[in-house]
Amino acid sequence: VACDKLVERRDDGSCPASHPAEAVTGDVRVEAGEPGPRLPRFNWAAFALPPVWGVAHGQWAGAFFLPIWLFADSILATARMNAVTRVAAVVVVAATLAFQAYFAKRANGIAWRRVWQQVSVEEFARSQRYWAYACVPVGLALAGLVIGYRAF
Ligand SMILES: [Zn+2]
Repeated sequence: VACDKLVERRDDGSCPASHPAEAVTGDVRVEAGEPGPRLPRFNWAAFALPPVWGVAHGQWAGAFFLPIWLFADSILATARMNAVTRVAAVVVVAATLAFQAYFAKRANGIAWRRVWQQVSVEEFARSQRYWAYACVPVGLALAGLVIGYRAF
């Protein structure tokens, strides 16, 4: 949980980064010498459409991107006024994208912990690829719409 990735337990149940056994959850068994499965490091669906992906995966924090997007959009609407508003628009959009990237980086670990008893890591990774195929084009279209509307 603390490392937010799949780790190999040590003999006392703690993780290699010395987080206690209570901070390690879930259980994937592998043969001796077989490498443990790995979660994808970045969730593109969570990056592209955090409100939709988040709510669908029980991560309600994703819904907070709706007011953040509204705020970013209204800052973008003022971007042409002068140099200060242009800088503000760049800073706000960059911060919003950085926040989305942070959400997407943590998304797989948190989402997999909710379902680890029902789906294997491979099945989870596959379903997240389908999520990406659906969410990334919609996210790009949405971004294109905002840029087109605000720039022309
Ligand atoms: Zn750890």
